[in-house]
Amino acid sequence: MNTHSSVGTVKVLFMCSAFILPLSCKTTKDAKTVLEEKQTLAAQKIDEIVAPKLDAIFEKLQAFLVEQTEKMKDKTKPFAEHPLFAKFSKYFPQEQDLLNQVRYAEVDELPHWGPPEKIGIDSDLLTSIGLQPGIFDFPGALAITFDKTIFVKKGNLENEDMFFHELVHVAQYNVLGNKDFMLRYLRDVFRGTPYEGIKLEQMAYSLEQYYKSTTFDVLAYVREYQADL
Ligand SMILES: [Zn+2]
Repeated sequence: MNTHSSVGTVKVLFMCSAFILPLSCKTTKDAKTVLEEKQTLAAQKIDEIVAPKLDAIFEKLQAFLVEQTEKMKDKTKPFAEHPLFAKFSKYFPQEQDLLNQVRYAEVDELPHWGPPEKIGIDSDLLTSIGLQPGIFDFPGALAITFDKTIFVKKGNLENEDMFFHELVHVAQYNVLGNKDFMLRYLRDVFRGTPYEGIKLEQMAYSLEQYYKSTTFDVLAYVREYQADL
């Protein structure tokens, strides 16, 4: 099912989805200009202040997530044993091995790294670039994926859309590598991008909206459009 046309159609939807975000279509031109100026300023600040620290931040963030994954190891189950596995296999036609390695765990609380200092970020650094220390909190999250492990908040194991979304993240980790995935995510967070504007999330939400109406190859799609992430 890795045809060019199916991937191409998804691309169109991805672009549309990005286009109809409220920030893109409901703001006035002036408000948009102000927003763009703020984003440019934020990007400059990242280059000056955050960029030199990004490698260290990534190391701590990865160490934290590895630790969480190890801690939960006994509680994780192979996704291959989940009822959705058979249904979702067709979206990974070339890479059944990857899907076979995915594990999930139902948890009372999703991994949460507390104050930014815990992952090597000064709260002062965040406030100096106009961000809140809580930028890494996503209170409404139902799941978090690290590499091939999906942590699911209790009561959501039957949530199909959520699982599909998280599998797109698994594919993104696979294509980009853990470091590049996290650096791109951090790049958007540090730019003050709202959750729904984070590019890795935009792609996952777009594909999540699309999978029920057609079949496509998730990994092929991520590979083809990784430059947009
Ligand atoms: Zn997501």
